[in-house]
Amino acid sequence: MVGKPAPRIPTSILYPPTMNRDSGIDQYLVYNPHYRTIICRQHGYAIAPGGMIRHLRDYHKIPLKTRQALNTYSESLDLCAVDELQIPSEPVDSINGLTIVDGSQCNLCMEKGASSSIKKHCRIAHQWGEGKVPIWTKQRLQTFFPGTNCKCGSR
Ligand SMILES: [Zn+2]
Ligand SMILES: [Zn+2]
Repeated sequence: MVGKPAPRIPTSILYPPTMNRDSGIDQYLVYNPHYRTIICRQHGYAIAPGGMIRHLRDYHKIPLKTRQALNTYSESLDLCAVDELQIPSEPVDSINGLTIVDGSQCNLCMEKGASSSIKKHCRIAHQWGEGKVPIWTKQRLQTFFPGTNCKCGSR
């Protein structure tokens, strides 16, 4: 049996029925129908609608044909705009594909981010000072779009 590929997991488990089963899309992208976002597995963040072709060209060393197939797939999906994304205020089960980081959440306005930036935020926005009881909570976070506030708490 030399040269025969290892047995594969049945594709019906890996791919929703609408997906091209032989395309291998799942190794690159994961679509989340609840949040209507497409997530790049390798980078661990979501790609904004219309941004796929550029993301793949700039950040992935994969053949043009594969990039085109991934782009065609992403264009076939129902994706919401970045500013329409409904971020839950409460922590949710971790979202498949998004990187999880340890961060903090402000108890007063629910702002989320790196612990150092939330501490700074509390100082500036809420007049918190060193020596006072912290007004933030440590929280695992997942960010949909880098550089934005599209973050949700992860259980
Ligand atoms: Zn990527
Ligand atoms: Zn705050």
